[in-house]
Amino acid sequence: MPFKSLSLLALALTFVSVPALAQTAPPVAETLFKNVRVFDGTHGGLSAPTNVLVRGNKIADMGTSAKSASATIIDGGGRTLMPGLIDNHVHIFMGANTQSDMMDPKATPEVLHGRATEEAKQMLLRGFTAVRDLGGPVFDLKRSIDQGKTLGPRIYPSGAMISQTSGHGDSRLPSERSRRFGGEVSKGELLGISFIADGRDEVLAATRENLRAGASQIKVMAGGGAASAYDPLDVAQYTLDEITAAVQAADDWGTYVTVHAYTPKAVRRAVQAGVKSIEHGQLLDEATIKLLGEKGIWLSLQALDEAPPTQTADVIAKKHQVVEGTDNAFKWAKKYKVKLAWGTDFLFNPANNKNQNADILKIKKWMTSADVLKLVTYDNAQLLALSGPRNPYAGKLGIVETGALADLLLVDGDPITNLDLVADPEKNFKVIMKDGRVYKNTL
Ligand SMILES: [Zn+2]
Repeated sequence: MPFKSLSLLALALTFVSVPALAQTAPPVAETLFKNVRVFDGTHGGLSAPTNVLVRGNKIADMGTSAKSASATIIDGGGRTLMPGLIDNHVHIFMGANTQSDMMDPKATPEVLHGRATEEAKQMLLRGFTAVRDLGGPVFDLKRSIDQGKTLGPRIYPSGAMISQTSGHGDSRLPSERSRRFGGEVSKGELLGISFIADGRDEVLAATRENLRAGASQIKVMAGGGAASAYDPLDVAQYTLDEITAAVQAADDWGTYVTVHAYTPKAVRRAVQAGVKSIEHGQLLDEATIKLLGEKGIWLSLQALDEAPPTQTADVIAKKHQVVEGTDNAFKWAKKYKVKLAWGTDFLFNPANNKNQNADILKIKKWMTSADVLKLVTYDNAQLLALSGPRNPYAGKLGIVETGALADLLLVDGDPITNLDLVADPEKNFKVIMKDGRVYKNTL
C-alpha cells in the first residue's frame, strides 16, 4: 500500500473513531442533594443545612457552594442525608426460604433462587445498600445485581459455609449417611449452602473453592449452634489445625476468616488460629471478650430473638441461653473497646424479613442512637473493608464525605433524636441511592 493511502486510511480511522468514542462514553450522571442535613456516619450529630453533589457513583463535592449545571436536583427540604444501612450478617438465600421449602423435593433451585432474588430487592428498598452474606449460594445473584439486571444491595459473599461432619453446617437428616461412608452428597452441599469438610486437605479445598467462586471472606463453623437440631450449643468444632488451614488459604488471597462461635473454648481456638472476626459470641466470658479487644478482633453481634414456639423444645432452650448472653456481650464489648459489628442473621423465616430495620432498634438498650447509627453504617463498613484485595467494591462505604461511594438515604426527620424513624423505611426513607443511582424517590 502506498504511503498516501496509508495516511488516508489513518485519517479515515480518526474520523470514524471520534464519534464512536463519543457514543460509548455518555456524560457522567450527576445528582445534587440540596438543603440536606448530613449524618456522615461518624459524628454524633447533623451538619448545618448543606448540599451534596454525586457524580457517577461517588460523592464529588459537599458544602453550600456545591453545585452543577447539569445535575438532577433533589431538594431535601432540610431532611437528613445519611449513609445506606449495612447488615453484616445475612443469609439472603436461607432468609428467603423456610427449612421445609429447601427440603421439599418439588422445590426446584429456580424457585428457591427466585425467592432470594425478590428478597434482595426488598433489602435494598429497606435502605440496606450493602450486606455481608455469611453462607449460601448468592454468587449468581450478586453478579446479576452488580450488572444491573436485578435489584439488591452490594453483596459481600462468603459462598458455602465450611463445616465439619456433625458441625453447624452439616444439615443432613438423621437418616442420611456421610458421603464418605456410603451416603450421597447432601442437599445443603448440592445447593451450595455448605461444604462438609474434614481434615486440613478438605478445609483447604473448600476455602479455595469459595475464593475461586468470588468469596470476599470465608465463613467457618467453629462451634455449635442455636438454630440447628443436631449440634449442641456447647461444642467446639474443628481442630486448631483445620481452622488454621482455612486462615492460611484465605490469607494467601489477602482476606480473612470469620467464624460462627458462641463459647470461650471455640472462640479462643479460633483466635489462636488467626481468625479476624467472630460471629455471635453471646456465651463468652468477660476474659475472652477482653482478649478480643486486646487482639483487635471483630465481634459481629446480633440482638437475637427467642425461638418461635413452633421450634422444638431443644432449639427453644438453646436460643434462650444465647438471648440471655447477649446483654453481657454488648456490655463487655463496650467496656474493652472491642471492634463491634452488627447483623440480623435472619434465617428460615421469610415473614420476619420485613423486621430487618426494626432489629436495629434493639441495640438502643446498650448504646446511644448516634452510636447505633454509626454501628450500622461506618463501623459495619470497616468490617466489610477487611476483605482487602477481595473487596468487590473499590471505595469507601458507610460514610458521607467527598470521594466516598454514593450509597445514601434521605430520611424524613432526624434519626439521631428519633432512631425509630429507621424502622419504617417505606414511610421515612424518601430517597434511596446506591452506587450513585436512585432506586427510590417519593418526594
Ligand atoms: Zn448466620
